[in-house]
Amino acid sequence: MSVCRACPRLVEWREQVATDKRRAFADQPYWGRPVAGWGAARPKVLIVGLAPAAHGGNRTGRIFTGDRSGDWLFAALHRVGLAALPTSTHAGDGQRLVDTRMVASVRCAPPANAPTPAERDTCAPWLHAEISMLLPHLRSAVALGAFGWASLLTTLARLGLDVPRPRPRFGHGATVELGDLLVVGSFHPSQQNTFTGRLTEPMLDDVLRLAAGHAGLRPSL
Ligand code: SF4
Repeated sequence: MSVCRACPRLVEWREQVATDKRRAFADQPYWGRPVAGWGAARPKVLIVGLAPAAHGGNRTGRIFTGDRSGDWLFAALHRVGLAALPTSTHAGDGQRLVDTRMVASVRCAPPANAPTPAERDTCAPWLHAEISMLLPHLRSAVALGAFGWASLLTTLARLGLDVPRPRPRFGHGATVELGDLLVVGSFHPSQQNTFTGRLTEPMLDDVLRLAAGHAGLRPSL
């Protein structure tokens, strides 16, 4: 997967960012390749994001690691007991997800954090392959943003789950029960949402607590 070059625009962008770098990270090597799912091998909770950030996952090689969205997400995961540490800064930082795994819908950093529908569809087999292996263990899945929500529900439908048609609408706190699996929607912890107050810490905590509780994990809050 880390050698995939199926999306020319994303390959060019991920590699250009890794060469140019941000000044603050000029002395660091950038990953500059697709970013794999990360966390427990047999997770009860799955977090589905959009795509790696140019100077976050595309730099550190770990999803939601080394950027502001990750700071928000990991602080919340730690508050509810799903992450060992409140920060996620680099691949060797000692962070550990507790019965939880996270994956991006599109595995390469896109310009302006906006993959095209064609890029989403090209990357879909990677998401399908990963979720198919995780599905027997999963009890909850949290989709971050409308893009993650649509990718997740499409993948689950292709894996044979009885996802309603028309597809349930995305919203913060929206839920879909698919047998034993609970799908929960959350606004994405992007700076657009967290800086404006559209997503607050209690809102994100509530969603994660719901997912953890449904999975039989004991949320710490
Ligand atoms: S986004 Fe997915 S399909 Fe496209 S190049 Fe990256 S890993 Fe491959």
